[in-house]
Amino acid sequence: MARDYYGLLGVGKNASDAELKRAYRKLARELHPDVNPDEVAQARFKEVSTAYEVLTDPEKRRIVDLGGDPLENGGGGGGFSGAGFGGLGDVFEAFFGGMNGQGGSPRKPRGRTQPGADSLIRTRLSLAECAVGVTKHLTVDTAILCDLCQGAGTNGKSQPVRCETCDGAGEVQSVQRSFLGQVLTSRPCPTCRGAGETIPDPCTKCGGDGRVRARREIAAPIPAGVANGMRVRLTAQGEVGPGGGAPGDLFVEVVEQPHDTFVRDSNDLHCTVRVPMVDAILGTTVVVDTILDGPTELTINAGTQPGEVIQLRGHGMPSVRGGARGDLLAHLDIVVPNKLDGKQTDLLRKFKGMRDKDRAEVMSTGSEHNSGLFARLRASFSGR
Ligand SMILES: [Zn+2]
Ligand SMILES: [Zn+2]
Repeated sequence: MARDYYGLLGVGKNASDAELKRAYRKLARELHPDVNPDEVAQARFKEVSTAYEVLTDPEKRRIVDLGGDPLENGGGGGGFSGAGFGGLGDVFEAFFGGMNGQGGSPRKPRGRTQPGADSLIRTRLSLAECAVGVTKHLTVDTAILCDLCQGAGTNGKSQPVRCETCDGAGEVQSVQRSFLGQVLTSRPCPTCRGAGETIPDPCTKCGGDGRVRARREIAAPIPAGVANGMRVRLTAQGEVGPGGGAPGDLFVEVVEQPHDTFVRDSNDLHCTVRVPMVDAILGTTVVVDTILDGPTELTINAGTQPGEVIQLRGHGMPSVRGGARGDLLAHLDIVVPNKLDGKQTDLLRKFKGMRDKDRAEVMSTGSEHNSGLFARLRASFSGR
């Protein structure tokens, strides 16, 4: 779960930098450790400061606005557990729960059955597989329901009993002094871990957890047009939760392998075609083995210049969302021979004799022939 950074500072999603600063200053005056040594306040001050740092960094704020959490580590092989905020939630509850004076109504024990976490698996796909879509048979390792107790966690006909430490409440409370006066803080019961009950005679297979780890084969349908880093969601194929709780989702992330011929840019495919000088002068054809449309003949016109690009519209990758396919772009690299025998040299000298107006010259920047080069140079200087 992404943190509510705006909520931490008590500002709206459209808050300007000045509003962020104002909100942060106001909170800091209450919570700064110099003013308020209480540990609840200090924990909150830390969170508020983190929220301020995140929201004043445009890149991080953008991630927040997209529903993500820039401080949450998305990488690693283990997938996203959604953990990590629980401790702070308890601090908040103590902080605000103490203020609004609704003491005496402890929350319900959270129960043993909890929803399961999502899990993530990566799969390598060739460019051709990305282009046509594929059903990938993958081995996944997740928690599944314990088939011996069906998630109950108990052995045979035995039953869970009320936790003695918390008397079934799932949490234990203590009173702390703070700048607000006395604050009642609650934390999950260490004996039953918040469940409110314990299992004296646990299932012999799962030890009372209601689930076991298992490897299994799944068939993951990957749609045509996927690209590196995209994730396909398989609903309810993730981890079964504690106590046999509803499974999370399984995400299959595509790792696209480099292709021998093509470099992909979004849905466009780029390749380079080497054209001998004389073929560029006289024109020729070349066959490109396109991924989806088979071998396709490209016409290289007589008089082709270095750097020309032939665009085959609609011969690129399909769009994963449907709609038009990308293009195939062949970049022509014209090759000048650097070793000629005597006869070839003689022929070229004769040719040169017939083209005596052709000579090397330094171009003016405004010349028509120069415009392409200079436009490219200008674009590279200005970083466009
Ligand atoms: Zn079991
Ligand atoms: Zn307990």
